[in-house]
Amino acid sequence: MIRKIGFIGLGIMGKPMALNLLKGGYELKVYDVVENAVKELVNKGALSAVSPEEAAKSADAVISILPSDNIVETVAVGKNGVFDGLKAGGIYVDMSTLSPETPRKISKKLMEKEISMLDAPVSGGDVGAAEGSLAIMVGGKREAYDLMQPVFQKIGRNINYIGELGAGQIAKCCNQIIVAQTIEAVSEALLLAQKTGVDPAKVRNALLGGFAQSRVLEVHGQRMLDRNFEPGGRVSIHKKDTEIAMSIAAEFGLYLPGTALTSQLWNAASSQEGGSDWDHSSIIKLLEMLSNSKAIHGDN
Ligand code: NAD
Repeated sequence: MIRKIGFIGLGIMGKPMALNLLKGGYELKVYDVVENAVKELVNKGALSAVSPEEAAKSADAVISILPSDNIVETVAVGKNGVFDGLKAGGIYVDMSTLSPETPRKISKKLMEKEISMLDAPVSGGDVGAAEGSLAIMVGGKREAYDLMQPVFQKIGRNINYIGELGAGQIAKCCNQIIVAQTIEAVSEALLLAQKTGVDPAKVRNALLGGFAQSRVLEVHGQRMLDRNFEPGGRVSIHKKDTEIAMSIAAEFGLYLPGTALTSQLWNAASSQEGGSDWDHSSIIKLLEMLSNSKAIHGDN
């Protein structure tokens, strides 16, 4: 049974997920390179660690949710990493969005200590993380998944075992393809409404009851109307995800023109001042610029 968890990465997603695990009665030892992020969790009852190794020591399982493949690899199997701290037979669950190759590579090293690895990326954004309603898509050994089920239930609702290690990341890649193109479609629709003199807020409300309904129209459509581009999900993060999809497309000879388009849009957003840290709903800002259109509400 999993009781003690090392938790690494207390950002937009990790902080609310860790809080839900604390509320769910788990003993948490947390680590992040940002000290204040650790302090905030300690104030809510977590123990602090000064390295991934320390977070992993005496834990039954370690969870990480971090920005990139390189960082996850270093945290997992680099110096003072999870591998050094976690006991033989422990479980390492990475919930970041990565290339499917990264968990497979990390797992080879972890197997030297019989540590099982799961790739368990999530969908639902900061709102889903706070609500404990994330979708979790899991790859790896079924026995490790079964042991982690009660833990996943504290942070997510739609929890699915997909297949072997890396399969969770493939599912998440599919998710990001759909989310990116839906954000692009919602941006185009709200821009068209605004430019033709029709209230985009009324259009959004009307569409929420029809076939165009989506979580992106609901949450990101509202962000676009509010001109709220504080990140939920950063442009830099979604840029990484479409790059993963494009690299898989190149490897398998797939024609994915919509994904290529959104990948280019994230590139363009990133080259705006501060654009990497805008929320990914900010695609609408690029379309407005190119359409010489004033912002839907406000002028930023
Ligand atoms: P974030 O940048 O807000 O958080 C990342 C955290 O990792 C930060 O607190 C940072 O200080 C910490 N960190 C960086 N390097 C570290 C290291 N070497 N050791 C320990 N901590 C380190 O990012 P986020 O939005 O929370 O995203 C994290 C992961 O979750 C990404 O892989 C992303 O693709 C995925 N994800 C994000 C969302 C979203 O909407 N934000 C949704 C689903 C999945």
